[in-house]
Amino acid sequence: MKVLRIILGDQLSAGISALRGLNQESDIVLMMEVMAENTYVPHHKQKIVLVLSAMRHFAEELRQDGVTVDYVALDEPQNTGGLTTEVQRAVARLAPDRLVVTEPGEWRVRDMVDGWEAATGLPVEVRADDRFFASRARFADWAGGRRVWRMEHFYREIRREHGILMEDGQPAGGVWNFDAENRKKLPASTLAPARLRFAPDAITRAVMTLVEGRFGGNFGEVEEFGWPVTRADALRALSDFIAAGLPRFGDYQDAMKAGAPFLFHSLLAPALNLGLLSPREVCEAAEAAWRAGAAPLNAVEGFVRQVLGWREYVRGVYWTLMPEYAERNALHATRPLPEFYWTGDTKMRCVREAVSSTARFAYSHHIQRLMVTGNFALLAGIAPREIERWYLAVYADAYEWVEMPNTLGMAVFADGGQMASKPYAASGAYIDRMSDFCGGCRYDVKQKSGPDACPFNYLYWAFLIRQTERLGGNQRLAMPYRTLAGWTAERKAAVVAEADGFLDGLEG
Ligand SMILES: Cc1cc2nc3c(=O)[nH]c(=O)nc-3n(C[C@H](O)[C@H](O)[C@H](O)COP(=O)(O)OP(=O)(O)OC[C@H]3O[C@@H](n4cnc5c(N)ncnc54)[C@H](O)[C@@H]3O)c2cc1C
Ligand code: SF4
Repeated sequence: MKVLRIILGDQLSAGISALRGLNQESDIVLMMEVMAENTYVPHHKQKIVLVLSAMRHFAEELRQDGVTVDYVALDEPQNTGGLTTEVQRAVARLAPDRLVVTEPGEWRVRDMVDGWEAATGLPVEVRADDRFFASRARFADWAGGRRVWRMEHFYREIRREHGILMEDGQPAGGVWNFDAENRKKLPASTLAPARLRFAPDAITRAVMTLVEGRFGGNFGEVEEFGWPVTRADALRALSDFIAAGLPRFGDYQDAMKAGAPFLFHSLLAPALNLGLLSPREVCEAAEAAWRAGAAPLNAVEGFVRQVLGWREYVRGVYWTLMPEYAERNALHATRPLPEFYWTGDTKMRCVREAVSSTARFAYSHHIQRLMVTGNFALLAGIAPREIERWYLAVYADAYEWVEMPNTLGMAVFADGGQMASKPYAASGAYIDRMSDFCGGCRYDVKQKSGPDACPFNYLYWAFLIRQTERLGGNQRLAMPYRTLAGWTAERKAAVVAEADGFLDGLEG
């Protein structure tokens, strides 16, 4: 019995379920670089380099372990450019008896895999992806029957179930949540630590050349590529984070600083999402640092909350609600994405900073994504699918299962409250409190209207005014709506007119 075991681009884990029971004498592993996967959104050049280089390294490692790998490179002349047609071609070439694959992370690919039995005439075994704390069934079980889903409730259950940061059945430190301690502004004198980056080796350099040749017009720079592309380097990146970032990760989790896009963040999402690291091992490494006295509990709990909490939660939301989730637009937002999301050509310094680190590193941290580019898209009423496709394209860690709920649910409230109890709408005051951007901005964050006023200020109030019917009853927005109740109709109309004038100018 010859089994063709298919490994997709984000399944680069030695323990992946598709490889279990592999017979080195008879089985073949198939890996495919195809154009369709590189073009469904106009990916950042570094993201393409990362995935292709990591795939090539993984194939090499399997070969070194004695596994037969059939690897289809992107520039192979016979490459048909699609996953299904490449599987068909491989079946004709290798004559297997059956196919085994681990369930894909994205709906789009799952849909393809479901057609492979018909396309090949062979049995296809789709195995569960057990690289997560919670299976899809576990999430569905948790979500079933609940009217309201909240990450916090799910997080506590999963943490208890897996015994992460637990002591005698209770959360370590006696409380589940240290969020209140994790919102400090970074003092001007605090410097961001240097972070471990990885110089491209020969395989990565070859992929960089390929990408410059084929995707030269795509967004982003490739020169400063420094992401880990092997498990060994990913483990080094984890150690670097535990030593250099984790101790202050909690305190400055929400802080932003000009010219310092990484701060104390882990930079581990690209490796986690490719499968080079497991969520369990990164949580365990963080917990071990706390137990050894090398990191405080608020930092470690904050990190575990992101990985065991948010990452698993958004995956559950995605798989439970797709495919209709993708079409949600609860706030009826229709504006096209402004060009400055691609060029960074805007006078708003906070947005310029976020877009520039995105172009340079295929990275910006969570608060820049949520409270700068995301907040602007929310306030400006950018069509959810347009901003969603942007996030999917531009980050090295972007895969639809994790990106889409973050964008539609967290950033632009397009799901009407499935993910978050209120929109993360904020005026310039929030950005000023959490960053040093406003000091060097052409706009004045203290001014509410006029040509020098920070656009986030009037956009914020105009957003609330426009959305009164949909959001006015939200208890968590009671305060700003009470403020608005004291405004005259003329004042409201003036703010909306100022916001419209600014937004119309963007499209011109
Ligand atoms: C609009 C928007 C789009 C996003 N798109 C993606 C995406 O495509 N891929 C992605 O991995 N993350 C996405 N995130 C979540 C988060 O911003 C990134 O995981 C994080 O910035 C990656 O950098 P880091 O590894 O340094 O994270 P850290 O701040 O160090 O966090 C540690 C880890 O926790 C996980 N994590 C943190 N926050 C989240 C979250 N909200 N959802 C899921 N996992 C989380 C990540 O695996 C991350 O590596 C998005 C957030 C927003 C607001
Ligand atoms: S003043 Fe407004 S636009 Fe300028 S950096 Fe601050 S928040 Fe951003």
